[in-house]
Amino acid sequence: MKFKILLLLVPFCTVGQVTDEQMLKSIYSNNLKQGSCYQWLEYLSNSIGSRLSGSEGAEKAVVYTKNELEKLGLTRVYLQEVMVPKWVRGAKEEAYVIDTKSKISFPICALGGSVATPKNGVLASVIEVHSIEELNLLGKDKVKGKIIFFNRPMNPEFIETFKAYGSCVDQRSSGAKEAGKLGAVGVIVRSMNLRLDDLPHTGVTNYGDILPSEKIPAAAISTNGAELLSSLLKNDSNLKFYFKQSCQIFEDVKSYNVVGEIKGIENPQNIIVVGGHLDSWDLGDGSHDDGAGCVQSMQVLLNFLQLNYRPKNTIRVVLFMNEENGTRGGLKYEELSSKNGENHIFALESDSGGFSPRGFSIDADELNFNKIVSWKYLFEPYLIHQFVKGRSGVDIGPLQSKHIVKVGLQPDSQRYFDHHHASNDTFDAVNKRELELGAATMTSLIYLIDKYGIE
Ligand SMILES: [Zn+2]
Repeated sequence: MKFKILLLLVPFCTVGQVTDEQMLKSIYSNNLKQGSCYQWLEYLSNSIGSRLSGSEGAEKAVVYTKNELEKLGLTRVYLQEVMVPKWVRGAKEEAYVIDTKSKISFPICALGGSVATPKNGVLASVIEVHSIEELNLLGKDKVKGKIIFFNRPMNPEFIETFKAYGSCVDQRSSGAKEAGKLGAVGVIVRSMNLRLDDLPHTGVTNYGDILPSEKIPAAAISTNGAELLSSLLKNDSNLKFYFKQSCQIFEDVKSYNVVGEIKGIENPQNIIVVGGHLDSWDLGDGSHDDGAGCVQSMQVLLNFLQLNYRPKNTIRVVLFMNEENGTRGGLKYEELSSKNGENHIFALESDSGGFSPRGFSIDADELNFNKIVSWKYLFEPYLIHQFVKGRSGVDIGPLQSKHIVKVGLQPDSQRYFDHHHASNDTFDAVNKRELELGAATMTSLIYLIDKYGIE
């Protein structure tokens, strides 16, 4: 990939001669006219595909993104070795019930980290519950030998769909652990999806420290499948559900975070990180989650290079490995950063999809929060208005520098869970301009942080 340094876009290249309004205009224009993030995503999604930790796709993505960063002419590009879990889905899962008239199949997928069913599958009666509390009230006697069906839908009343996800996802992350302790033989979880369709959505399930004998297979069922199963159970509470999956857990394997940076000209010891996670689930190609965040983060550095902007602080892009089923990349990054005595002043993560940016979720003290909010007017021309306190990102979560400010890009979330962790998280679901606007928004905030610092 070649790029030209566009002096024309920034008429006054020396910082100080350019107003913040002009600089943001240049950043957005540059990104929309000659951004590379969409092409990078096209390659990641369509030529490489899914990138589950430990898979061939993940390793290809490491090589590809490192090469692309090397072509940009950054100060330094390097890899950070990290051991990651390797879980493999195996053959396509099967699920059905047989009623008096026919065999009814259901779209399911194994949850990430789940154990397999016995070779011939599991056949058992089903108990539908809507929460872990409801499961626990049933107790061992009722649960033993049964398949537990968690069917609490995401609450549609939340405008921010991540809140609906957050208040529902315990069924997926802990349902198998809790049901296993009570002697269930399997768990089926309604997909974390606000719409009704036929796609099962995977995601991690954690067994915690339960006994190996208590680990039971867990699968997600599509939302339509969940509705159907629930209605069948209303007619026949004794019906038996069958499912089969053959996933496997292997030894940890070696993988990498991919890192590139532009060294700061005034305070190179101060580091500003921008990143996303390079791994994805295996059903789609992880275009929104989180190919988008990776290529947007790479684009941030490319914008600065193309605009000939020399940052005061070191600006570093990190493509973290293994966010989905371990956060090993984020933990390794923090471990090495502490060991090397690095001083991070700011971290920005994009891991909420490649949709139209709306603003930022800011994890900072009052002083720094207010400082960022004071720049809100600069973003208004770009329809960025949401400056709220909240979570930043899973990969930057472990970062512990003393005065660090952490921020998550907040795109429009209405369609995110239509695709999240499902086979339709694919390149065609990402809009070029929306992706680019997100990258420009990230670049703009980093520019302001670089220029004015944090308190
Ligand atoms: Zn993600």
